[in-house]
Amino acid sequence: MTEALGRNPGSAEAEGGAARRPTDSDGQPSVRIRDLSRTFSSDGKTIHALTDISLDVAPGEFVVLLGPSGCGKSTLLNIIAGLLPATTGTAEVGGQSVTGVPQGIGMMFQKAVLLPWRTVRENILLPIEIAEGRRAAAAATQRADELLDLVGLTGFAERMPNELSGGMQQRAAICRMLITEPEILLLDEPFGALDEFTREHMNMQMLDLQNRLGRTAILVTHSISEAVFLANRVIVMSARPGRIAGVVEVDLPRDRTPDIVTTQAFQHFVEEARQMLHIGYSMEKSA
Ligand code: ADP
Ligand code: MG
Repeated sequence: MTEALGRNPGSAEAEGGAARRPTDSDGQPSVRIRDLSRTFSSDGKTIHALTDISLDVAPGEFVVLLGPSGCGKSTLLNIIAGLLPATTGTAEVGGQSVTGVPQGIGMMFQKAVLLPWRTVRENILLPIEIAEGRRAAAAATQRADELLDLVGLTGFAERMPNELSGGMQQRAAICRMLITEPEILLLDEPFGALDEFTREHMNMQMLDLQNRLGRTAILVTHSISEAVFLANRVIVMSARPGRIAGVVEVDLPRDRTPDIVTTQAFQHFVEEARQMLHIGYSMEKSA
């Protein structure tokens, strides 16, 4: 890993590929959610998007929110990102109550949304250009290129987004997310629009990145196997109102390869998550 990428306090010890959680001195979680609910009003009706959510995410942990469409996964991520207020309850990031967009958050969505008139490198530098101006962005050029190396896009810095495949565009979006060196990554179905093969490849890359950089990650998906493959912990959610139906501790080594999906241990966790999703559906019916 390069020095530029190694500024994260957890990354020095996280280097070497093994799954290690950077411990912070006071044992404080990166993200703490308490008794959180969120309602929306639509056509005079109240929609209970999230109810009674409590969750701690440890520094360096990879948590996956798994649940059916409409169960409030994006709403929860947006509340953590400070893009949406909670109706009741609290969200804290790094021990601070979330009131606006917290420092040290990086976000990624299903669509890469790269600006078509800017090169890949210029797209990656955009968050710095917006926050600190052109000079700061120019000074970060080397870091942008190092990130491109890290995700296997060496030599693509000067290309335009439309010259890249969907998977490559998402890799550029990963670089754009990482350029500000965020401590916490919020990933809203980042690979949901990719074909299965590319998605598997991206999952490998995401796991490898997180093992190397040691960031805290919260990823949203409705794919059970993607959830188990990536997570230290899968938070299974039920729909209407969105609440936590169960938690699966994925006690597998972090140096996972695609063929782990064929192992009994992996299938055991998949089955556990599947059953919790079914419990979630019955919770929905009785709600
Ligand atoms: P998910 O990401 O799990 O698919 P969302 O968080 O997007 O779910 O939405 C959860 C629920 O809240 C859904 O029923 C959705 O229709 C509703 N919802 C989300 N955002 C709004 C909004 N701005 N206005 C009204 N309803 C919303
Ligand atoms: Mg969503």
